[in-house]
Amino acid sequence: MSRQSFCDLTLAELKQCSPPGSAEHLLGALHRVPRWPTDGEGQRTAPLGRRVRGFVEQHFDLRLPQLIVAERSGDDATKLLFALADGARVEAVHMPRAVRNPRVTLCISSQVGCAMGCTFCRTAKMGLVRNLGAGEIVGQVFAALLALGPTDPQRLSVVFMGMGEPMHNLEAVLRAVAILCEPAGLGLAPQRITVSTAGLVAGIEAMSRAAVRPALALSVNATTDHSRTALMPITRRNSLAALRQALQVFPLRSHEKITLEYVVLAGENDTEQDADRLADFASGLRHNINVIPWNAFAAGGFTRPSDDRVRAFVARLRGHGCLVTVRKSRGTDVAGACGQLATDTVRAARVALGRTAPAQP
Ligand code: SAH
Repeated sequence: MSRQSFCDLTLAELKQCSPPGSAEHLLGALHRVPRWPTDGEGQRTAPLGRRVRGFVEQHFDLRLPQLIVAERSGDDATKLLFALADGARVEAVHMPRAVRNPRVTLCISSQVGCAMGCTFCRTAKMGLVRNLGAGEIVGQVFAALLALGPTDPQRLSVVFMGMGEPMHNLEAVLRAVAILCEPAGLGLAPQRITVSTAGLVAGIEAMSRAAVRPALALSVNATTDHSRTALMPITRRNSLAALRQALQVFPLRSHEKITLEYVVLAGENDTEQDADRLADFASGLRHNINVIPWNAFAAGGFTRPSDDRVRAFVARLRGHGCLVTVRKSRGTDVAGACGQLATDTVRAARVALGRTAPAQP
């Protein structure tokens, strides 16, 4: 039987198999990856004594997702391509913000591919290959921290805006969130983790009840059920009214807002009426509308709106009293921006999955 990954380890589970009183310390040594020291060969490894390491290695798989490509963009974002134990590949994007207080936002994946079929998204073209396990989700964070930092987890935010629909794999996503927030481990604050959904009402409701609840973002992207169904087929079973209702009753912490993402597609969803209807959707919700000018990809079939068009759309929303930010897409030159993630050939991912032995990429 394969051993459980140390990335997929909760404190409660570790307590069941480790000597009494040692679990907190052990989990801290394993999961506080930014503090791992460097050994003689420049490799960073968990600080474990010989005997303890023997115990840990016997019970747990200490490998991280293997970083196979790190592509640095001109704007300092880095697209990371990881190989998982079965050869499947996923991408994450590391985005430092060089302000006085340097912070990093890490965008991670919840699935290999995606089943949502949104017409404007590159990941959708892959279809769904498989769900990620909680350990594979956490592993992306650990591996990115080891490669690029930050060393202080207080400076890290995590967004589930990479490949996949988190609500389609909610159990693993919420388990990963709880592991990342475990105080004895990395100790992220749940408010610093955002789960973005294409809009599954049942998932939003289930997430609202999670013991360790991350922040919520909804990809609104269109303002009538008819136009939204054409862009996001999931609307057929999750109408805008039902989504609005789920957001209305979503419990928020003080100062917390729901992010409403809106990908602007020239000539598709960028009229004044769209802005008015979007403002209507947002009114009465503690919100931040995040406007995302569409990022192009080959055979994408849409047009990126001009800056003027985006400015007019934003001004109209603000005129209604909405709080609006425009997402400066990072990593476009390495296809690492929103909706551009897709491991290059779907076939490669599927073929790799057919193998029985772990692939050596
Ligand atoms: N499945 C989830 C999370 C992944 S996508 C969701 O739909 O929310 C993260 C964001 O990128 C979503 O808001 C999505 O609408 C947006 N997006 C997808 N393709 C895009 C593209 N080509 N350009 C800009 N944004 C895109």
